[in-house]
Amino acid sequence: MKIYGHRLPDDFLIGTANSAFQSEGAADRDGKSESVMEHFAKEYAGKPQPHQDPKRYLYGPPTFSDELGDDGCFFYDHYEEYIEDMKKTGQNTYRMSIAWPRIIPDGVGEVNPKGIEFYNKVINKLLECGIEPFVDILHWDLPQCLFERGGYEAEEFPEWYENYAKVCFENFGDRVKYWSTFNESQVAAGTGYVHGGFPPFIKDNKRGLLASHHIILAHFRAVRLYKSMNLKGKIGCVNCITGVTPLERNEADMGAVERQIERYFGLFTEPMLKGTYPRVLLRECPKIADNMPEHFQEDLDKWFMPMDFIGVNYYITRAAGYNPDTITKATVIDSFYAAPGQMWASYPAGLLDIVQYIADEFPGVDIFITENGCSTDNHYSEEDIHDPERIDYIREHLRMVSRAIRAGYPVKGYYYWNDADSYEEMWGYKFLFGLTWVDRKTGKRVWKDSRHYFSEVCKTRIVG
Ligand code: BGC
Repeated sequence: MKIYGHRLPDDFLIGTANSAFQSEGAADRDGKSESVMEHFAKEYAGKPQPHQDPKRYLYGPPTFSDELGDDGCFFYDHYEEYIEDMKKTGQNTYRMSIAWPRIIPDGVGEVNPKGIEFYNKVINKLLECGIEPFVDILHWDLPQCLFERGGYEAEEFPEWYENYAKVCFENFGDRVKYWSTFNESQVAAGTGYVHGGFPPFIKDNKRGLLASHHIILAHFRAVRLYKSMNLKGKIGCVNCITGVTPLERNEADMGAVERQIERYFGLFTEPMLKGTYPRVLLRECPKIADNMPEHFQEDLDKWFMPMDFIGVNYYITRAAGYNPDTITKATVIDSFYAAPGQMWASYPAGLLDIVQYIADEFPGVDIFITENGCSTDNHYSEEDIHDPERIDYIREHLRMVSRAIRAGYPVKGYYYWNDADSYEEMWGYKFLFGLTWVDRKTGKRVWKDSRHYFSEVCKTRIVG
């Protein structure tokens, strides 16, 4: 049959995603220790976030929500019903993360059997329902006790992380075939340490570059270990990308675009796939070149081990213009308008742009769209399940995925962020992305219209 329009391949992985600290709840139960995400949510509850430029924010000065995420969306107690729902949806995969503070509460000491038991139950249930688990080893929720010992900046971080990854591979590696070492290290180490706009709210470029470097070394150690264990799955990393267009049509702004993309994405992805840091940053950005950790290239040479795929989280595209005074000699601004009630502007064409960019830059590597999602702030009651804007969002982005596949790009999977309305870090429960509405008091779940649409796509493979 000739195909006109958009049909996804039969072996394409399509499903939803969520992370441990945002979905599980049970933040202090069954031996789990506190994570940095929980710690800073408490410390800053209801207070202005440090180091933020209020002008950048559509919804006023950024204040940390006073809603703590300690209940997530009650996944810990209701994982079976959630997974049954995924099965009904017809999705063939689910992206989740494992909470380090649940597995090794002291960060480096004893393994918590209750933590192992919980993830075993989740993974087994997924497999029973025909759903392929795609597991992130760390989605930001570093044990707070390790942060207090230096966190990502500590020389020992790569070793701590390898030790934790080993516990994950040994316990779950017989069944989990897709692993990602880290989620969005640019947010953890870039926004969190360089710009100071995310826990732990440190604004220090040099410290941020050290944190990033240690994350990359930790990634290599886990990839090496995984490959040596011969577990027959694939291992990669989830990095985020912001699409960038030039503010004005001139060479100076095109240069700003390149540096900005490299800062967001290349700074992590290039070492992980090629064993080098982006040359343009080292050559043209003295604030980066002069603050790099000592012997960075020797470290990369020593530890480099290529990964099997790249996961990419795509939400937005912004515009960059030349500005000699910033770290990347670029200023980035919002260039598309977010619809009322939405946190970010939707720009589906940007998804094709980023796939083309990744495929050109890193030929042959499999690409998974590991996050893409639409947030709204109209989710107060059970009546608020009609979300045509989310259906449009998914359809338009999936059309881009289908175009990319038909053009020959190796896009192998798509994960809608997120499975159900969950805790959203600094925004608490204000902007939510879920395909399922969740009652914050009772935990009752109701499918939104978008879940019905997504379910039809999963079952028919026709995007429409
Ligand atoms: C993160 C998620 C987060 C989402 C929406 C991504 O940056 O990986 O944890 O909930 O964006 O803010």
